[in-house]
Amino acid sequence: MKAIVVGGGASGMFCAIRAAERGVKVTLLEQNEKLGRKLYITGKGRCNFTNACPPEEFRAHVVSNPRFLYSASEALTSDDVIRLFDEWGLTSKVERGRRVFPASDRAADVIDTLVSQLKRRNVRVITGAKVTGLLTDADGNVTGVHARVKDENVTMEAEAVVLATGGMSYPSTGSGGDGYRFAAKAGLKVTTLSPSLVPFNCAEEYVRDLQGLSLKNVELIITDGKKERFREFGELLFTHFGISGPLVLSASAVLGPVAGGKTLSGVIDLKPAVSAEQLDARFRREFDQHAKKALRNTLHEFYPAKLTAVIPRVADVDEDKRCADVTKEERLRLVRTTKAFPLTITSLRGWNEAVVTKGGVDVREIDPRTMAAKKRKGLYCIGELLDLDAYTGGYNLQIAWCTAAMCADALGT
Ligand SMILES: Cc1cc2nc3c(=O)[nH]c(=O)nc-3n(C[C@H](O)[C@H](O)[C@H](O)COP(=O)(O)OP(=O)(O)OC[C@H]3O[C@@H](n4cnc5c(N)ncnc54)[C@H](O)[C@@H]3O)c2cc1C
Repeated sequence: MKAIVVGGGASGMFCAIRAAERGVKVTLLEQNEKLGRKLYITGKGRCNFTNACPPEEFRAHVVSNPRFLYSASEALTSDDVIRLFDEWGLTSKVERGRRVFPASDRAADVIDTLVSQLKRRNVRVITGAKVTGLLTDADGNVTGVHARVKDENVTMEAEAVVLATGGMSYPSTGSGGDGYRFAAKAGLKVTTLSPSLVPFNCAEEYVRDLQGLSLKNVELIITDGKKERFREFGELLFTHFGISGPLVLSASAVLGPVAGGKTLSGVIDLKPAVSAEQLDARFRREFDQHAKKALRNTLHEFYPAKLTAVIPRVADVDEDKRCADVTKEERLRLVRTTKAFPLTITSLRGWNEAVVTKGGVDVREIDPRTMAAKKRKGLYCIGELLDLDAYTGGYNLQIAWCTAAMCADALGT
């Protein structure tokens, strides 16, 4: 069996190694001069390459089409991935949230490990090779690729072509969406693509005044005018354009296309551990005790410095007022602003900031046991190219590894 793997990222390299191990003659084509450019920037340069959780928990962290991954996630578990990399010489460590990193904290070591396995298995690797289209026979079945290799147009034939071209995020790493075009041209449905695990732009001017402020243990609630779309506790960060941080990235994974083109309303409960009544009682006590102080000089008891100026402004209460002069209505407005700090989410940030792509090759077009296109013989799709995406925590790379493994095992039988 001769196979061409298009894309030398996480899924492509893994698939090529495993297929070669199973006796397949593999050629790996990568348009960049180096393999694994995206891997290099994963996990802030440390590469959170899997999550040490059982398969059912892994699937629970996959946002789109987790059921498609049933076989793949059982066939190659995160334990298998950790053990395999260990056998290949990469020791790992498990951190908070069972995130697995190389013990060296270097994403480059993950790439080097894969590259040395490619060599060991005699995979023919051609870098600087941009695939420009699929070669098909009269029935539309895939028989090879057209590529541009070092300024020359070439045609390569194979019994199997594996598209491992990744998604659309961080296009500078090479993921420009070619695979979607190839798949669509071959007649496969591609679902709507949108950036995921991405920050939000917000309309309010005061959000910019909060730039750099990081909040832990807050609750973020997002509605689309009619329906509540997201509600979770966690950590978020104010930026010069809006909000970011783990809570916001999770929200983007759930909202996806809902956020595209629509303005969403967000509120942050800055004090989820206390009720509105309890907070009001605390304000009353504080204002009674410091009746002669200006309001702004007491608010540091309740909020981090950057918020002390913003909260009265949003609540429309004069911060220079003496505490004794704060009316009940004003106090209740402070309570409401604290329990439901308002935000208008105007859009998602773009592909340059998205960790993954939501949407992709429709999984109904693909056999989940082989990753083969059901209606195009010779064509396989793996990794982020598929309509699969997960939360942060090593789950997206686990998608890449396990879909690659299923495909390689099918090619090798
Ligand atoms: C900043 C950032 C941090 C991340 N951190 C993590 C993390 O810590 N943990 C985690 O689980 N996930 C993380 N991810 C997500 C993870 O990197 C991806 O899900 C994963 O790399 C997808 O693997 P892939 O093989 O499908 O695609 P990629 O790794 O993107 O590989 C695709 C390859 O195909 C090549 N290619 C594309 N078109 C062509 C063509 N026409 N011809 C030849 N080659 C082509 C590209 O150049 C690229 O090398 C992160 C993503 C980003 C952007």
